[in-house]
Order: sequence, then C-alpha cells, then structure tokens
Amino acid sequence: MEKFEVVEKLVTDIDFKFEYGNKEKIYRYLFSYDNNRIIESMAIVHILDDTPVDLTVEISNMYNCVVGCRFCASGSLPESNLFLSAEDYLMQVDKSLKESNINYKDYPKFYVAFTGIGEPSLVKGEIARGIMLIKDKYPNVQVNIATTGFDNTCFGYWDKLNLPIRYFQLPYYSCESDKIKYIIQNVPKDYDLRKNIEEAIKYKNNHKGCRVKVNFVVMEGINDSEEDIEKMIRYLEKYKQDIIIKVSYLNYTEKCRENNLHSPVQNVMNAILNRFQLLGFDCYIFGTENNTELGCGQLVQNYICDENNKTINIENDKVKIKKPQL
Ligand code: SF4
Repeated sequence: MEKFEVVEKLVTDIDFKFEYGNKEKIYRYLFSYDNNRIIESMAIVHILDDTPVDLTVEISNMYNCVVGCRFCASGSLPESNLFLSAEDYLMQVDKSLKESNINYKDYPKFYVAFTGIGEPSLVKGEIARGIMLIKDKYPNVQVNIATTGFDNTCFGYWDKLNLPIRYFQLPYYSCESDKIKYIIQNVPKDYDLRKNIEEAIKYKNNHKGCRVKVNFVVMEGINDSEEDIEKMIRYLEKYKQDIIIKVSYLNYTEKCRENNLHSPVQNVMNAILNRFQLLGFDCYIFGTENNTELGCGQLVQNYICDENNKTINIENDKVKIKKPQL
C-alpha cells in the first residue's frame, strides 16, 4: 500500500457544541504510513446553525503518543512512538482536502490544528518547519496547537518566529500532582502546568490575535466535585483575563472503559460552566454526551491487532491490519 493511501474514511454530520457553533461535518481519515502504521487526520467544517464558519484540518504529529493520557486511544497502539516530519504534516492537509473534495478557499477561515495524535512541544523545530511549509501552500492559514508542554521552552522558541498561531490549548485535569500523574502517565518530573500557562500567555501577549485555551477534560469522580472546581478556580483566578476555559466532554475509548473514566452528565457539565461564567471566566462547553468516535486514536486503535484482536509488540513482526472498509 502506498504511503498516504486512504485506509478508512468516515463522513458524518454531528450536533457538537464548540466555541462559536453547534454542528460539524467531519471527514475523518486513516492513511497508510508504512507497512505497519496507520495515521489519522480529519477535515472538519464547523457550522453555526446552517452556515459554515470555518474549515479546520486536524493532523497528527506522531504515530502513537509519548504523553500517555490514561483515557486516550492512541496510547493503546502497540508500536514504539514515531515522530512525523513537516512533509508528513503537509501531506495530511493535502490529502484530507483532496479526498473530501474540499477547496479551502470556499470557507471564510482556514485552520490547521495540531490537535490530533502527538505532543508538538517535543518537536518544536519540526512543527515550526511544518507550519511554514503549510503556509507556503495555503497562505491564509492559521494554526491551532494543543500541547501538554512536555518541553515548555517551545513557547519561547515559537515566539521568535513569525508563525500564524491562532491559539494554544493546554490540558487541565487537576492542579493536584497525584491526579496529574494518574491521568498523564508519562508526565515528566519537572512538569509545571503553571509555568506552561504563563509561557503560553507570554507568547499571546507578544502576538496579537493569539489566544490561550485551558482544556478542562471533565471526568466523574476525578475532577468534577465542588471541591475540585473550587481548587481549579483558585489555581486559574490570576489568569482569568488571559485564558479561555474549554469545558470538554471525554470521548469514549477502550481506555476509558478499562479505567472507568467518563464525563459527568450534562447537568453537571452545565453547572461547572455556569460556575466559571458567574466568576467572569471566558468559557464554553466542548463536545457531546454521545460517543462520536472522534477522539484521538479512536479509529486507528481498531487497526492494530493480532489474530485474537489483541494489541501486540511490533518487534514480534506479526502486526496485522484489519480489512479496509472503504
Ligand atoms: S490525548 Fe493527546 S496528548 Fe494525550 S495521549 Fe492522546 S494524543 Fe497524546
């Protein structure tokens, strides 16, 4: 199979809450990468009522992911981590648009989001090179970057370059180190969420139009109690004017099931949102209660398995790819 051939395509329209709309048309792809690996990306048309407001192509910068979030399906891939190249980023954008029969010029805004699988901070130079390559071909593009900030020098590094970064998104699971370590399984010893937020804000202050989002992935029994929310408010209070809080539903994955992780019901999500809003935080709900199969690795996890449908080590050289269903 050629590199970047479509292995699976999922096209769906969903009701989906996000910052400035309520529907999405999704074209989600699994692309062949090498003999054993398949990578995923998607083109998303964001819609407010019936009007498209932007086109976003979400890409991966790794196969598998070094971060190891306990709920994330990409962590269930058996092979070793592999960082993709700047050319691979561009190829995901090109192929996602071509296979979706989409002309990016037909949309009022065009974004490329490094919000798929991977941790951009660890390959900050490659990310910068990739953004430049993408911008050369799509001059009006703006870029969203989601990073856990494993290498928090990334913000200062990108600050010196003239990159069209529209926002940074940093995850928030808790401000308590035990809980952080539980959810981010490979968290570095020197991980410092506060420092990450402050570095991202510094970048934002130097680049008009850039914003900082704190992605609060809400998990029942982990971070959704009144006490958890009060601690979070105290922790983030001083950044209130500089951040946007995204109150996110957790996507269903096998990992969620194994670890009994799930979002609270809608009423609790709404109550959390109201609490933040009453205090003057800029915030919004992201996602849906339904299983959308749109989380990182949710499709690709189905493809790496042995005869017994179990993930295996690539060193065994027995990885089989399930029959493509195009
Ligand atoms: S949620 Fe993102 S950062 Fe966490 S393991 Fe998955 S791809 Fe990596």
